[in-house]
Amino acid sequence: MNNPKIKVGVLGFGGLGQAAAKILHAKSQMCLVAVADQKGYAYNPEGLDPDTLIPVYHQQGSNGYLPKYGVLSNNSIVHLISQAQVDGYFLALPNLPNTFMADVTRQFISVGWQGVLVDALKRTSAVEQLLELQEDLSKAGITYLTGCGATPGLLTAAAAIAAQSFAEIHHVKITFGVGIANWEAYRATIREDIAHLPQFDVDKAKAMTDEEVEEFLDKTNGILTLENMEHADDIMLELAEICDRHQVTVGGIVDTRNPKKPISTNVQVTGRTFEGRISTHTFTLGDETSMAANVCGTAFGYLKAGIKLHQRNLNGLFTAAEVMPSFVR
Ligand code: NAD
Repeated sequence: MNNPKIKVGVLGFGGLGQAAAKILHAKSQMCLVAVADQKGYAYNPEGLDPDTLIPVYHQQGSNGYLPKYGVLSNNSIVHLISQAQVDGYFLALPNLPNTFMADVTRQFISVGWQGVLVDALKRTSAVEQLLELQEDLSKAGITYLTGCGATPGLLTAAAAIAAQSFAEIHHVKITFGVGIANWEAYRATIREDIAHLPQFDVDKAKAMTDEEVEEFLDKTNGILTLENMEHADDIMLELAEICDRHQVTVGGIVDTRNPKKPISTNVQVTGRTFEGRISTHTFTLGDETSMAANVCGTAFGYLKAGIKLHQRNLNGLFTAAEVMPSFVR
């Protein structure tokens, strides 16, 4: 109980990064000491306050403008991680292009950083790139937990638990509802979601200007309906030996103009029990819980779990489906 506070860094200070800063502010076991965005970073070993960070980011566009602790930089991640004393980072970064998170991971390895990394990656192919770094991460002394958002993340872990009643899993069906007041608060999330639509891909969505995204959302009345998404819940449940990846389906509805969830987020796990009965477990998130609460809460639960693994010299890549999250007070 009297352990020193875990020193946390947040890379990316958009919708999720800012929510992460607010969540950490209320925690006694973790302390936000470092943040980075595309144009700069801020570091204070004594702690950073979201009530000063967020207005500076909104008014001036970067944490680099934070009085006393901010530094402007076009290479903010490398500059920050090379000098800051941080136990673990939450990577709240866009994965645009789809290789970005793996590139950032290589930067951590190449500067010789040691500690815990947690991401909220979405795509199967992005997690596959990290799997290729498994050995390098182990050798570097980094404990990396991937897919630790809501989906993948909270719902994938819930599916792993729900699976225990069954002798055989037939189908894991994840359905999410997201409501946000305006898309600009979560630009990367919305661009990455657009990339899942049939007529788009990651490169096309990345290349869209804000005005083009706006125009597109005008046509759909602000609603994105997503089906059969390439979501890493599938590879994570396969790696955890729960089912094959083709038995996992993910889809959802995102309303970019209304903070109310259009539908309830849930995971359904269907299987056969040892008695031969077919049944379905359903785990539904409360409608009042926001995307930010479900993603960042989970990410920090896994960060704390990762710290414990790291202290036991368990390094390398883990997924949210193979480790239990801790709870951060
Ligand atoms: P955002 O667009 O609101 O913010 C992105 C931030 O990253 C900005 O602060 C930007 O300055 C910073 N950034 C961009 N390039 C950078 C660079 N090279 N160096 C340093 N900082 C850089 O993003 P968001 O909507 O908060 O989403 C973040 C990620 O979280 C996305 O990849 C999204 O898909 C993911 N996400 C996952 C889940 C889940 O459940 N797994 C849910 C929601 C979002």
